Amino acid sequence: MRIVLLGAPGSGKGTQGKKLAEKYGIPSISTGDLLRAAVAAETPLGKRAKVAMDAGQLVSDDIVVGLIRERLNEPDTARGFILDGFPRNMAQAEALDAMLDEIGRPLQVALHIDVDFEVLMKRLTGRRTCESCGQMYNIHTSPPRVEGRCDSCGGRLVQRADDNEETIGKRLKVYESQTMPLIAYYRRQGKLQTVKGVGDIDDIFLKIVTALEGVE
Ligand code: AMP
Repeated sequence: MRIVLLGAPGSGKGTQGKKLAEKYGIPSISTGDLLRAAVAAETPLGKRAKVAMDAGQLVSDDIVVGLIRERLNEPDTARGFILDGFPRNMAQAEALDAMLDEIGRPLQVALHIDVDFEVLMKRLTGRRTCESCGQMYNIHTSPPRVEGRCDSCGGRLVQRADDNEETIGKRLKVYESQTMPLIAYYRRQGKLQTVKGVGDIDDIFLKIVTALEGVE
């Protein structure tokens, strides 16, 4: 199964991507996670990426396309992959198509998780992540049992540096202007599937699994 998850920041791509990865036994690859790891490790690439990330802008195409190219060369992608947060603009989508055409394994589905903008704002400002195990929470809609602590491992819950109101606004604008055109791009290719991303996480997951029926 070779799919991309399309959706605004806060639409649930990360959450659903992880669940899909578990169900289908293929990796969910998030450029955001790869970039945050590079920033934390203070690599030269991480240092370049940090400036754009802190500003809520896109990191340059050469960096993210390079990261994806390397990641897709790993053996665990042999049976497929889920891309979360890539591609984010037209140039990246075309680069991905070219990359996959080269190896004769084209993309099968672009799954759009559709969520209204007001909901996104609330989700993003309330979002917290466990710094130890990566489990996600939302202080408004799915709080941990003990404030600031992960239910699963007891780790500390932290807010992402770019989840502040000012940067969130910028990220949503970037999504609207640069990423939303990909919906039409994949529709033209006959690969678009859309699922409403509101309500219970497991119900949304079921709708996604249904939309992916028949894709191997
Ligand atoms: P995410 O975790 O997907 O919300 O990504 C966090 C930040 O990483 C974004 O706001 C961008 O600055 C950067 N980023 C992630 N994926 C991409 C991408 N495909 N292209 C450019 N920048 C990206």
